[in-house]
Amino acid sequence: MKKIFYILGLLLFAFLAVGVFRNANLSTFVDMVENRTFDLRQNITIKSGSKVKDDNIAIIAIDDASYEYILGKYGEWPLPRDIYAKIINYLEQKNPKVIAFDLMFVNSMKSLKNADEELTKSIISNNNVYTALNFDNQPEELRFPPNLPDNLSVQVKNNSSIDFSDNTFSNCRSILTSILTGTSNIGIINVSRADDGVLRKMPLFVKYQDKFYPQLALKVYEKYSGSEQKEYTINSDNSVIINNKKIKLDKDGNVLLNWYGDSGTYDYIPIYQLIKAVNGEGHVNYDFTGKVIYFGTTAASLFDIKTVPTSRIYPGVEIQATYVNNLLDNNFIIKISRSYVFVISILLALLIIFVVMKCSSIFASIVLSLSIYTLYLASTYLLMEKYNIWIEIIYPLIFTILAIIFGYIVKYIIKSRDFDTQYKLATTDGLTELFNHRYFQEQMKFHVEQAKRYGQDLSLIIIDIDLFKQFNDTYGHQVGDIVLRFVAQILKRNVRTTDIVCRYGGEEMSIILPNTGLNEAIFTAQKLCKAVAEKKVKISGKELGVTISLGVSSYPLHGETPQALISFADEKLYLAKNSGRNKVGNI
Ligand code: GH3
Ligand code: MG
Ligand code: MG
Repeated sequence: MKKIFYILGLLLFAFLAVGVFRNANLSTFVDMVENRTFDLRQNITIKSGSKVKDDNIAIIAIDDASYEYILGKYGEWPLPRDIYAKIINYLEQKNPKVIAFDLMFVNSMKSLKNADEELTKSIISNNNVYTALNFDNQPEELRFPPNLPDNLSVQVKNNSSIDFSDNTFSNCRSILTSILTGTSNIGIINVSRADDGVLRKMPLFVKYQDKFYPQLALKVYEKYSGSEQKEYTINSDNSVIINNKKIKLDKDGNVLLNWYGDSGTYDYIPIYQLIKAVNGEGHVNYDFTGKVIYFGTTAASLFDIKTVPTSRIYPGVEIQATYVNNLLDNNFIIKISRSYVFVISILLALLIIFVVMKCSSIFASIVLSLSIYTLYLASTYLLMEKYNIWIEIIYPLIFTILAIIFGYIVKYIIKSRDFDTQYKLATTDGLTELFNHRYFQEQMKFHVEQAKRYGQDLSLIIIDIDLFKQFNDTYGHQVGDIVLRFVAQILKRNVRTTDIVCRYGGEEMSIILPNTGLNEAIFTAQKLCKAVAEKKVKISGKELGVTISLGVSSYPLHGETPQALISFADEKLYLAKNSGRNKVGNI
């Protein structure tokens, strides 16, 4: 019986659990909170210093100070493009491995033909210079989607279930045609934002006009490591092999960035220092040899994308730098799939239900349950720090809380059921299933008090089976027991539910009749006497007749204490015995 109850309870719990997982609103909310915990975990691992960034990545930043400088010197933003050309030429003399622009040189009204030509020349004449392109979904009437040269796209063979629809675009922020046609060193800089607007993921490839385009960071990484690919295969386990490294993608084809530090993680040179240097106004004391140099914005007024480490609000170009660094170390974050989280949550819940059931103290069981969850929390943190694995913690938390509540409900129900059986055992007679002598005494006391206080009637009937010894002597004790049960059943069936039928002792029984006066009680006694006499008890084929004798007493007429009432009824019972049995002694 108890087992069935457990099974039903667990089924109910499983039903609830699946409901929690499949509820769309709840899942959006949980995702949001879970994402924040991811940010927090990233921040803690950054603070712990366990991740070491690559020293060969440097940033030339259009930061707030540079922005001020540019406005002061040139009177406007953006920077005249020949300045970039000069900087590229200046840097090339210092032998960097790659120069990448996380900036787009778009066709604009402000473009100066000569400056653009100079920039194009320096970009296309140096095969280590990379620049960026960005796709979007702007309507056609705003900007006609350009056709891009074939050599910018790559072949992607998708053998996985990855669905690129979120990373498929219908329009393109195109850059200067001369650059577009002059070099294939162009990568996309699209990002993938979560519902809360925070950037945690980046696509590896995006789709435009049915072709795949690679991420700028991917191109820069390949150039840096000396092996440029034009064809990629996404395997059935959502992985791509790049340069012998297995890169795992999520269901939309994104990677999850793993951050190395707060703003200023990478070697950082404000662009104004280079402008000054190329204009002969100063020097840059930095060794660019063999490095990846990323140009990009970090100025608050220019760029406002939010990324994971919550304190860094405008990391700008550091997104690309981090991406390249993750590719070099192959340490993108791998998020464990929902179905595993569901299994983990269920196991956690079962363990906690077990703890709650076994623990006798509420305090101890809650502390223990929360400790189990905390242990889980600590292990998920360690998994992120050591193995870059993100295991969700919010669903398991919901399950932990549900399990504690559920465990308590089950425990309470079982306890109250135990109490009920204990109570029943303590108050009933096992043979006849009537109330026992102790219960009779308690109830007599209670009902006499009650009658006294509220001025109510109360009667008592005492019953003794006639010549009962003969049953025992003739047919044996077992038959005697059957007769006892037979009489008990008849008594129970012929009184009100409010009357209390008890086994007084031996083959004597008693009935307390609350709110019942003498006449009514005598009438009931007669009815019972007749009912027993009329029925036959079947014993091994034979039908035997049984009769009873009864004595009645009433409060306050025959006494004002239980004892007095019992004695009076007893007297009347003996009277019945003495005057021939099978009758009520009061008449
Ligand atoms: P009377 O009409 O005068 O009451 O005659 P009686 O034979 O019933 O006499 P008495 O009430 O003195 O006998 C009670 C007998 O009931 C004695 C005992 O052996 C028997 N008895 C008491 N309790 C049980 C029981 O639980 N089971 C069985 N089988 N017999 C019982
Ligand atoms: Mg007797
Ligand atoms: Mg008897």
